Amino acid sequence: MNNMDLQEIGEFGLICRIRKWINSSDPALIQGIGDDVAVIEVGTKVLLMTTDILIEGIHFDLSWMDPYPLGRKSLAVNLSDIASMGGIPKYFLVSIGLPKNLPVSFISSFYRGLKHEADRFRVGCIGGDTSLSQKMIVNICLLGEGKKRNLLFRKGAKVGDALFVSGRLGDSALGLKILQAKKKIKGSEALVKKHISPSPRVELGQAIAKYHLATAMIDVSDGLLIDTSHLLEESEVGARIWEDRIPLSRPYRKCVRPFSKDPSRFALSGGEDYELLFTAPLTMRGKIVSLARSLKIPITRIGEILAQEEGFHMISSDGEDYSPSRLGFEHFK
Ligand code: ADP
Ligand code: MG
Repeated sequence: MNNMDLQEIGEFGLICRIRKWINSSDPALIQGIGDDVAVIEVGTKVLLMTTDILIEGIHFDLSWMDPYPLGRKSLAVNLSDIASMGGIPKYFLVSIGLPKNLPVSFISSFYRGLKHEADRFRVGCIGGDTSLSQKMIVNICLLGEGKKRNLLFRKGAKVGDALFVSGRLGDSALGLKILQAKKKIKGSEALVKKHISPSPRVELGQAIAKYHLATAMIDVSDGLLIDTSHLLEESEVGARIWEDRIPLSRPYRKCVRPFSKDPSRFALSGGEDYELLFTAPLTMRGKIVSLARSLKIPITRIGEILAQEEGFHMISSDGEDYSPSRLGFEHFK
């Protein structure tokens, strides 16, 4: 058992073990390991904490990622986790590992990007750490706050709820493929932009939480299928998703063919969409439609929640019912 390597258990198998090795049971802890954000009760408020790491060569490549958007994205990926709880982001700490030949102008540009995103979402940098590293590494720890009664977790989805997703899926993963191919593809600008400068759905997440529209929520960072499976596991339910309802953008439909035989591939299993996936009773549908209209963010009903015994089903465009097997992006696998 202990001779298994990380490749066999994957990122999520490892997190599952970490959760058993080191788990806190402080009475003030509302949510520890297992959700997008940790939640701690402090007086009358709840404190939200999340952290994400970006590593050169794994998460970004300096041949196509400039320091300014890298600064923005480093914060955006953390903001997305706070958005998925319906929280208010407040402060962050930023730790960087840098190779010694990096020009100072590169770092100043990185910080300008970071400041752009911080100002946009009204969050303040309050510290961090700096070290030498062979490759560039960025780790941000973002703190936020929220109201206990409004927060949304991965757990909470109920049998009979509908499954909704914001925005369009797969653009970022297809944008990455296009960047890696180093080819100019007409009409692909929006896809590349979605990969380089994702826009976290902070306002949408807060509104969903404030108006109690949802029962559970997660951000789609590793891919629709894998993030749905996290929500299903934590909520102890199953689901059915109709593939032909998955929202695809026009540039995605136009550019996907040369990159995959299966046109849904990046929308199902590609990562870094940073959209919100949530469950809600169908009675909330009218309110959800109005919210989508007022924020000008598309929200699509893509599936329904089933009992856990029924499992996780995908219905393909030609009506075939299949179990999603190769789920999505996972480190070490
Ligand atoms: P997300 O994709 O939303 O950032 P992850 O899948 O990375 O979430 O993490 C799932 C849960 O596991 C979170 O609660 C996170 O804090 C926790 N986690 C991830 N890596 C570690 C680790 N190395 N040690 C402790 N907890 C971890
Ligand atoms: Mg997340």
